[in-house]
Amino acid sequence: MNHLSDRILNMSTSATLAMAAKARELRTEGKDIIGLSLGEPDFNTPDFIKDAAIQAIKDGYNSYTPVDGYVELKEAIITKFKRDNNLTYTLPQIVVSTGAKQSLANVAAVMLNRGDEVILPCPYWVSYADIVKLNEGVPVEVKTSISTDFKMTPEQLEAAITPKTKMIWFSSPCNPSGSVYSKTELRALADVLQNHPDIYVVSDEIYEHINFVGGHESMAQFEDIYDRTITVNGVSKAFAMTGWRIGFIGAPAWIARACNKMQGQITSGANCIAQRAVITAMEASPEKVKYMVNEFKIRRDLILDLLKDIEGFKTNIPEGAFYVFPDISSYFGKTFRGKTIHNATDFSLYLLEHALVATVTGDAFGNPDCIRISYAASQEQIIEAIKRIKGSLS
Ligand code: PMP
Ligand code: GLU
Repeated sequence: MNHLSDRILNMSTSATLAMAAKARELRTEGKDIIGLSLGEPDFNTPDFIKDAAIQAIKDGYNSYTPVDGYVELKEAIITKFKRDNNLTYTLPQIVVSTGAKQSLANVAAVMLNRGDEVILPCPYWVSYADIVKLNEGVPVEVKTSISTDFKMTPEQLEAAITPKTKMIWFSSPCNPSGSVYSKTELRALADVLQNHPDIYVVSDEIYEHINFVGGHESMAQFEDIYDRTITVNGVSKAFAMTGWRIGFIGAPAWIARACNKMQGQITSGANCIAQRAVITAMEASPEKVKYMVNEFKIRRDLILDLLKDIEGFKTNIPEGAFYVFPDISSYFGKTFRGKTIHNATDFSLYLLEHALVATVTGDAFGNPDCIRISYAASQEQIIEAIKRIKGSLS
């Protein structure tokens, strides 16, 4: 008999983290795996941020922080929202958490009742569906494809709305498709919501700076939707700070207050040293981390170019983040080295075994025709990985 709760038994394991763990395990067995599964910048955290953390330790920051974050950090986040996104937030609207993942978990916990529907344009980030389900919500997938650059159209949104719809969650730039919604496209989605005043939006903007098309557009910029939008952001990606675990929201004050209450019973707030360091990150001009964005763009171009040479890899042109999400469904039913590929999971496992390249199955993102390849790896690794993939499929 299993004594674990139904809650955890019904939860899927994070496919991104599971693949990264598998790659790590194979490496300890001596296999030369190239890891293109995890969405984690391969850069080091910039020195000016590390120095701020060292200084915080020396200055004796070691106590519990305010549950929703240091006031100085929340002020720096408010300044960042104004400077980068032209969004106006006040102190009671900001909550700092242990990564954007916890920000999302808080929002789900405080907003969803059993049976509430959450619209997820597919492909969506791996953890959305399980965070929603954990909180007894019902994910409603809206399928998109390369033909609409993996973006949800206003018509699709309207068609997905039911009396039970509580929220819409999406990321732009999108993990895993790299798609970036323009201002016009966001406005068109907001127009649909004008007729549905009880629907809230989670706008996950964690990749905002890793954008190759110029400016980032925030959903909360539209006055008519501002009071219904929770803007999620964090430092993991643009500042190469995944392990520091700091994320944050800007939200209506009543939602922020509820997240603060939730966090007060669950974590007591985010790590004090990391919070001090993030003050420095927030105050810095985004130009200071532009060298990483420039390198990601070079790699994006490189990997798209290399993938063109492999038959059966159909891609959109990702405009942000650091992933490509090729449709590889033309391989389904084919056999290589005695192994028949039935679906994207088989394909991803085949690449792990025979090309020694770790990717993630599209199933984890709600799209069973694709795999996700992260190009947060060196150019040499990308070149070698694609060469191996090509070799394993010939
Ligand atoms: N949202 C998206 C779209 C992501 O890709 C990630 C990746 N980790 C997160 C949220 C969570 O970020 P973190 O918890 O590291 O701040
Ligand atoms: N967001 C990253 C990814 O999608 C990190 C892993 C995770 O948090 O699941 O790979």
